[in-house]
Amino acid sequence: MSYDRVEVPDDGEKITASDAEGQELDVPENPIIPVIHGDGIGKDVGPAAQQILSAAAEATGRNISWMRVYAGETAREKYDENLPDETVEAIREHRVALKGPLTTPVGAGFRSLNVALRQTLDLYANVRPTYYLDGVPSPMKSPEEMDMVTFRENTEDVYAGIEWEAGTDEVEQVRDFVEQDMGFDSTIHEGPVGIGIKPITEKGSKRLVREAIDYALEHDRDKVTLVHKGNIMKFTEGQFSEWGMEVADEEYPDEEVFAAPDSLWETQEDIDIPEGAVMVEERLADAMLQWMQLRTDEFDVMAMPNLNGDYLSDAAGAQIGGLGIAPGANFGDARCLAEPVHGSAPKRAGQDQANPSAITLSGALMFDYIGWEDAAQLVKDAVEETISSGKVTYDLERNLEDAEKLSTSEYADEVVSNIEKLS
Ligand code: NAP
Repeated sequence: MSYDRVEVPDDGEKITASDAEGQELDVPENPIIPVIHGDGIGKDVGPAAQQILSAAAEATGRNISWMRVYAGETAREKYDENLPDETVEAIREHRVALKGPLTTPVGAGFRSLNVALRQTLDLYANVRPTYYLDGVPSPMKSPEEMDMVTFRENTEDVYAGIEWEAGTDEVEQVRDFVEQDMGFDSTIHEGPVGIGIKPITEKGSKRLVREAIDYALEHDRDKVTLVHKGNIMKFTEGQFSEWGMEVADEEYPDEEVFAAPDSLWETQEDIDIPEGAVMVEERLADAMLQWMQLRTDEFDVMAMPNLNGDYLSDAAGAQIGGLGIAPGANFGDARCLAEPVHGSAPKRAGQDQANPSAITLSGALMFDYIGWEDAAQLVKDAVEETISSGKVTYDLERNLEDAEKLSTSEYADEVVSNIEKLS
């Protein structure tokens, strides 16, 4: 594609797919990587992350040619559009990109640009590793017990955007269909109603659970937990779990992956798992939120529908010190859009105070994905070194004694100087 409105760097090369199925990447040493700084604190943390990631790339003998693309506030200012086609195409074409948070209005206004990007690019797995970094203040007694990776389905569920506003003709047509044609008479209260639809497909569920199991096998993890609310939403969340168990049962040998569909009501000790196999178990989402706090070290890789994943990964992030340090990335077939768990935090925007660790560590996930494991490790080590030396942004400083509060840009400089020391 030719880009009329954004500048393509002339000194980098494109990451391409190396096989016909488009599953594997060919990564040059000087890739072009599109970046969206994002709204709100994105303007602070986006450039800081770029600075740190560039330093880690250089320290490991590479160079990133960043291609700045626009969405949200900056796209509205520049082009009077929320999500220009060029931005979507730049990410599609260059396969790997970094993104800051984008604001979504509540109640009315445009639909989430984050969801639109994930759906348009079919980035079906939102992966959020939650692990403890030394020196981070946490409300938990043993935060180091947390080492979990959440696989959140990213393209369907109530996020599919199939909903009708109260007071419209459309919502009344849907009400009539549900009550008269489908027989749910008297189920919906009289008067104005908003209605949404929650699609959970076999395709969406199975490919997500497959990704989670493959990750567990590749990273020597013991367990994949399917987290759902299938006792209430039997034909959507319950079906997600059944399809997930089918993947575990039918697509892998028992000695590698052991499906435990009866695990919902059993404790782990009651289940006879073949030695060395990854167990795929299921848990109800509400109970999971308490076990995550009370039995943190029992959980490993988790796979779940979209909304559960949204709630659960924020809660998990709080256990290891908050959203300022919680990374994430969206994956599709041979594509990765790295983005932090947090949003645009409007009240902190433009004040050079937000913590850039989450988006920076998201960049480390992107590095891992393109095979730059050494650069990824360097980023993680330098962030941990900075925090454990007591040099932190406001969000961590307020919960630490004797820490030095740094601005976003001072913190980025400090991480870069630790990259230089550690490399
Ligand atoms: P949020 O932006 O994640 O912020 C909630 C609070 O978390 C902040 O006020 C701040 O707490 C803390 N926080 C988040 N990121 C931080 C950082 N980097 N450093 C330090 N503290 C951080 O959640 P929200 O206020 O619910 O959402 C705001 C907007 O972001 C909404 O429009 C929402 O739709 C959008 N959003 C976008 C994404 C995305 O782009 N993927 C994800 C989630 C939300 P304190 O002020 O208490 O310090």
